[in-house]
Amino acid sequence: METLVLASNNAHKLEEIRAILGDKFEIKSLRDIGCTADIPETGCSFQENALQKAQYVKEHYGYDCFADDSGLEVEALSWEPGIYSARYAQINGRKVTPQNKDNVNMDVLLEKLEAQQSEMGEKAGARILSPARFRTAIALLYHGSVHYFDGIVPGVIINEKRGTEGFGYDPIFIPDGYTQTFAQLGSDVKNGISHRARAVAKLAEFLTAN
Ligand code: IMP
Repeated sequence: METLVLASNNAHKLEEIRAILGDKFEIKSLRDIGCTADIPETGCSFQENALQKAQYVKEHYGYDCFADDSGLEVEALSWEPGIYSARYAQINGRKVTPQNKDNVNMDVLLEKLEAQQSEMGEKAGARILSPARFRTAIALLYHGSVHYFDGIVPGVIINEKRGTEGFGYDPIFIPDGYTQTFAQLGSDVKNGISHRARAVAKLAEFLTAN
């Protein structure tokens, strides 16, 4: 069986990928190959960051590899926070802890949107602050070539946090076609329609066909 490394230690991502590709590939994590490095992510786009991670593994460990990079893009903020999604609060001068990071990131985003005072209508009894989308880019290094796969889920940012499931910006994002946030919809629904799921489906389609 061919080995493919997923440049991550995220248990959820590994489980999701193994469920789809486990018949054809042995999917290894960074931990499985003994990589404990904090791989630099200094690119200017999701694609560049994903490629950097995959290239690091290829160069240092020799395995064919893929990596993903994701984030939230908000139209009314000129598509911020984008690649800065994970550290949006810090780059806006806030102190965070690993425990409150997601909450403070959302607070900063909501404050910036409220400051714009734009009228965008209502959804499910909440005020819409902006159209937005989650995006995932996957970079795959496979048999000497680079391939990219991208997944997008469009929706809106609402003015209040709703729901307790998921992570990151899930409580303030309602995907198009739904009336609940990602944090209310829960993992079963989210994993079926998410940006990551869409990018992974394209990756799986490519790998099973090639
Ligand atoms: P990563 O590249 O998957 O680690 O995502 C980077 C950051 O984007 C996370 O720390 C979150 O702030 C945000 N993000 C990515 N995917 C999601 C999601 O599915 N829900 C909520 N936030 C997300």
